[in-house]
Amino acid sequence: MECFEVDTKIISYLDHSLKDEELQEFLAHLEQCPSCRGEVELLFTLMEGLNQMDEEEIQISDFHAAFQERRQQQMKDVVGRKKVRRFTDRMILLFVFLMVLIGFLYGFFHIYEYRMQYIAQKENIIYEQQISID
Ligand SMILES: [Zn+2]
Repeated sequence: MECFEVDTKIISYLDHSLKDEELQEFLAHLEQCPSCRGEVELLFTLMEGLNQMDEEEIQISDFHAAFQERRQQQMKDVVGRKKVRRFTDRMILLFVFLMVLIGFLYGFFHIYEYRMQYIAQKENIIYEQQISID
């Protein structure tokens, strides 16, 4: 993610409305760009400060530490959700694979059985014809 993209996503970030993929890129950019980090931290401080004024009680006294903690927690959450999603995707894939395999085996044995019946019937007809000739 580039600096100008961060600018367009700051409000969504502070609103918690970024999707996981965007959030991860956003946080990764902040990690390595002091300029954007400073900008976002300033807005974070402003918004949280205004919220606190509304509530008339102090919840955050160290905005810098709170901002850092929030970023770290969000990164952890995003990575965790990604792992769960990857696991779920694999399980679904495995399930589909097993269903296809079972379907294939079922079809195969069905055809085999049908073929055996057909051969048995043919042999029976030949046998009966031989009897009638005799
Ligand atoms: Zn930047």
